[in-house]
Amino acid sequence: MPIFYDTHAHLDYPEFASDFSELLDRAIVAEITRLISIGTDLESSGRAIDLAERHSPVFAVVGWHPNEALTAPDDLRPVLSELAKHPKVVAIGETGLDYYRLPSKREGGKPEDDEVFKRRQAQIFQQQLEVAAECGMNCVIHQRAALEDTLTMMKPFVGRVRGQFHCFADDASAMERILGMGSVVSFTGILTFNNGQNIRDALSATPLGQFMLETDCPYLAPVPFRGKRCEPAHIREIARVAAQVKGCSLDELSAATCQAAHSFFPKLQ
Ligand SMILES: [Zn+2]
Repeated sequence: MPIFYDTHAHLDYPEFASDFSELLDRAIVAEITRLISIGTDLESSGRAIDLAERHSPVFAVVGWHPNEALTAPDDLRPVLSELAKHPKVVAIGETGLDYYRLPSKREGGKPEDDEVFKRRQAQIFQQQLEVAAECGMNCVIHQRAALEDTLTMMKPFVGRVRGQFHCFADDASAMERILGMGSVVSFTGILTFNNGQNIRDALSATPLGQFMLETDCPYLAPVPFRGKRCEPAHIREIARVAAQVKGCSLDELSAATCQAAHSFFPKLQ
C-alpha cells in the first residue's frame, strides 16, 4: 500500500485528547506515515512540539493563526525563533490573512473593527515571514478572501520563503500565481465533496510535485465520513479521489506528494 502524509492536522485539539493513541494506530495501519501538527497560537504550538517529541511520526509547525490575531503578543519573533530551532519543527505557521471572518460580520461588530483586525493580521504575518526567512524555513499559509494582499506581503520574501497554501479552495489561475512565486498548494477532503468540482478542477490543473495532501482535521472529513470528526487516516479517501482527478496511480501520487513535502519541509525526516 503506497504511503501518504497528512501535512496539516490539528492534533493538539481537544477533539483528539481521549483517543490519540488509537488515532495514531489507525493512521499507521492506513500507511499515513508522517503527521504534521499545526500550531494556531503559542500554546497550541507548544502542544504540537510536545506531541512530536512523544510520537515519532508527528512533526510540528509553530505560529499564530490570523483569526486569533487580536490576542497575539506585540512581537512573536523572539519566541517563534526559539521554538523553530527544535529538530521536529518543520515550518512556521499557520499564518496569513483571513478577510472572510471579519468582526463586522459578527453580532455587535463595527466596520472600523475590520481595519484594526486586518492591520493586526498583517503585522503578525509579517513577523512570521521574517522568522521563517531568518531560520531558513517555509510558511504554512492560511488565506481566505485575501489572495491579493497575501501575495503582496509574500513578494519581498520570494526566493527565501515559500508558502504552502493550505486547504486550497481558489481557482486554477490563483494556483498558477502561487506556483509562479515558488509556493505550493495543498488539498483537503473538500476534493471528495459533491459540491467540490471547482476544487477538483484546480487540482486537475496543478502539476504533480507542486501539491500536497492534508486533512485539516478535526475539520473537513472527506466522503464517506463527511460531517464526522476527521482524522489523519482519512487521507486515503482524499488520495483516492486525487489520483482519479490526476489520472495517475496511487503509487505515482504517493511519490509526488511525499517528495513535495520533503522539498517544502526540509527537516521532515
Ligand atoms: Zn489549519
